[in-house]
Amino acid sequence: MKSILHYSKILTIAFLLFNCKARSQNNSSKNSIEKNNDLTAILIDSLTVKKHLYTLASDEMQGRATGTEGIEKAAQYIEKEFKRIGLTHYDTLSSYRQNFEAQNMKMFNVIGVIEGKSKKDEYIIISAHYDHLGMKKQGTGDIIYNGADDDASGVSAVLSLAEYYKKVGNERTLVFIAFTAEELGLIGSTYFGKHINPEKYIAGINIEMIGKTSSYGPKTAWLTGFDRSNFGKIIQKNLENSNYKLYPDPYPKFNLFYRSDNASLAKLGVPAHTFSTGPIDKDKHYHKVSDEAQTLNISNITETIKAIALGTKSIINAIDTPTRVKTKD
Ligand SMILES: [Zn+2]
Repeated sequence: MKSILHYSKILTIAFLLFNCKARSQNNSSKNSIEKNNDLTAILIDSLTVKKHLYTLASDEMQGRATGTEGIEKAAQYIEKEFKRIGLTHYDTLSSYRQNFEAQNMKMFNVIGVIEGKSKKDEYIIISAHYDHLGMKKQGTGDIIYNGADDDASGVSAVLSLAEYYKKVGNERTLVFIAFTAEELGLIGSTYFGKHINPEKYIAGINIEMIGKTSSYGPKTAWLTGFDRSNFGKIIQKNLENSNYKLYPDPYPKFNLFYRSDNASLAKLGVPAHTFSTGPIDKDKHYHKVSDEAQTLNISNITETIKAIALGTKSIINAIDTPTRVKTKD
């Protein structure tokens, strides 16, 4: 049963990919949206999403605090997945690790690349942070900050999107990054940002906390810094004929645009924004040991990943280029 299902799945993918290529010249945009929908439905599946999430948020990872054994295990899982998917190394690195030292600790971002077919010198980042708060120093009962929503859910999205794009292809170069030390003050993304030429970076797609239904309702997400570039408008346009909607960040007072890794790139002018569904104003598990995989809705994560794939596709394939971000405030 298992292998038969698998075989038929491969055939369907091959058929859709072939169809996509063969008819891409004279498609109406509606048809192409439907086809993209078909592909995301097949290539982004909830079982794989669930596996990533439950692995990264397991007690074995000890809350993934920067500089600990727990985060080392999380990094090894991400590296193993990057390798399985077939990502290449970033820039001159000889592994997926971008090593550096900060706060007297050895740290590293985990980075994998899929080179663009026609615009390989135009980069797009797809990112989430893989660190979290670690463990309580003492106490009884649960002492592990599993960080399932924050941000194992986002890393699951990064891995799923890497697998998706490895299969469907991309015109611009995609840089998949699991950032370290976000919880210590965006340290990993700041380090990354210091060593790039921002002009070459077309967009930053950062993903944070997508495991719970957003305040706008099911099949919706929101974007931080919505008005700072036209990135969000492009996504909305691409999602027009789908059943998923993107809205501006409903919590302007929380200043979320500057509270995740997108900020490190946005400060350099890159249109880098964070996708989230987190009901952060009333989320009782936020930064608590109770942020466990079981509290999350896998279908919310999977549908959001599919919407990100569909929504960002025209940017990834060099049809749209978002305006540079405005940062003065
Ligand atoms: Zn986070």
